[in-house]
Amino acid sequence: MIEILNATQLTAARETGAIVGDMLAELRERATAGVNLLEIDAWARELILAAGAESCYVDYAPSFGNGPFGHYICTAVNDAVLHGLPHDYTLRSGDLLTLDLAVIKNGIAADAAVSFLVGPARPAGSPELIRATEDALAAAIDVARPGNRIGDISHAIGSVLTAAGYAVNTEFGGHGIGSTMHGDPHVPNIGRPGRGFRLRPGLLLALEPWVMADTDALVTDPDGWTLRSATGGRTAHSEHTVAITGGAAEILTLPR
Ligand code: MG
Repeated sequence: MIEILNATQLTAARETGAIVGDMLAELRERATAGVNLLEIDAWARELILAAGAESCYVDYAPSFGNGPFGHYICTAVNDAVLHGLPHDYTLRSGDLLTLDLAVIKNGIAADAAVSFLVGPARPAGSPELIRATEDALAAAIDVARPGNRIGDISHAIGSVLTAAGYAVNTEFGGHGIGSTMHGDPHVPNIGRPGRGFRLRPGLLLALEPWVMADTDALVTDPDGWTLRSATGGRTAHSEHTVAITGGAAEILTLPR
């Protein structure tokens, strides 16, 4: 089902989005070399509670996962890219970390992800990988306007990623969001302009370009959740929840 939010729901969406944006900014600051992924998960739990929100992840048990997720944030390091299950791993300088977070408050969810390098090290290829997903997200947001279609967003994302030399995986992409974390429409990260659902004010979309350095193939980690690059190459992921308005899209998951 595709949800179109009313004014009250949009007000709630702005608050939930800001909570996610603030939390990712805070956790990014704290995610330094020597920090364990399980500490980040514990901090996420505390911050969600302090914000009066609820986790979309802890009880999440979709068909593709291994039972309830049981954690409050996705932490994906280096070759891990999606659904990264927090585990006992201590971050090192130069690690490429992705934090992906979705929470719900007042009945409306928001979802965002950020990739960054831990510490001052800049391993070859990693900044470019992150930059490609950030540029693809910016291009997607730029065309997320009423009258355009989902295919225009998909095309914008795919064009940036392929021009940067990356192959695009089509199994996982963006999605509608609102009263649940994952709603319709699906937003593939590659597509044809002019196709698909026509965007209209009140539609919330989680746009999430992600990429792997040298493949489009994923493998599932033995933990049953974490999806990794099939080659072991590095990966990156950038995501915002945006609201379609009468003009330019409103980015809801920026920090306040
Ligand atoms: Mg998402």
